[in-house]
Amino acid sequence: MTDMKSIARHGRGRGCVITRRACFSASHRYWLPELSADDNAARFGPCALAPGHGHNYELIVSMAGGLDSHGMVLNLSEVKHAIRSEVTGQLDFRFLNDAWPEFDVSKPEGCLPTTEAIVRQIWARLSPHLPITALRLYEQPGLWADYLGHPMDAYLTIRTHFAAAHRLARPELSQEENERIYGKCARPHGHGHNYLVDVTVRGSIDPRSGMVCDLSALQRLVDDLVVEPFDHTFLNKDVPFFAECVPTAENIALHIADRLSSPIKAIGANLHKVRLQESPNNAAEVYAEVPQLEMTPSALEAALPV
Ligand SMILES: [Zn+2]
Ligand SMILES: [Zn+2]
Repeated sequence: MTDMKSIARHGRGRGCVITRRACFSASHRYWLPELSADDNAARFGPCALAPGHGHNYELIVSMAGGLDSHGMVLNLSEVKHAIRSEVTGQLDFRFLNDAWPEFDVSKPEGCLPTTEAIVRQIWARLSPHLPITALRLYEQPGLWADYLGHPMDAYLTIRTHFAAAHRLARPELSQEENERIYGKCARPHGHGHNYLVDVTVRGSIDPRSGMVCDLSALQRLVDDLVVEPFDHTFLNKDVPFFAECVPTAENIALHIADRLSSPIKAIGANLHKVRLQESPNNAAEVYAEVPQLEMTPSALEAALPV
């Protein structure tokens, strides 16, 4: 009886996902020896400059398993040790192009150390030691890659923002009816938000450039098709689409996904998700492709401050 109670109390055998965060600082340079100096500069911009530049990387490791008799999926000190010996101890304060042989581009099989290529190599090194289900690597707060163990597939997210005003009201309804549905958001002269937009693309990691798509081309698309037309506007009046369609966070996220989907396909990736955060208290997420269960690193989201 006592045993039964103690098992129940400690949740032994029940499944749980745990996450661990680890940081490292490292430098890198995007430069392929088979390209001319001009071609390297055109393709990689300032990332091609010698001798390189650095980032403070943040790694989130997500692991799953059943609880042991101590109430843990894994002993955290073993997790810390594995991450330090296999990853951060080898990369911290290093020049990534030299740190791991997979990033040696003087060899034909070498690959540039992009965020998505680094996170894939981290998976290869950690998975023999830890039951990883997802990895996320932040190169900076506005750029991160998720890797879920599919051999060449990765997710790359860029975060940007715009400020805009809107009013939530349907023109065919009276003011009273609109206020009943949309509350204060239906007030006649509108109000504004600083919107955060996360655009996630999925694609195969190019074996040479290490990229799921040209990052600067992706940033340009988001700037040209979202930030430029939406920033400092009154959405209902300045963006023709929202003259007809109520600009709720959900509708704005859907419209952003519709605008970006084909152009992102044209640069060789797939739009996976758009997340629009309207305020610290509300956000809308739209999947532009059908998510498979294992594709959603929700355990990572839970571990992170927004
Ligand atoms: Zn960089
Ligand atoms: Zn609002």
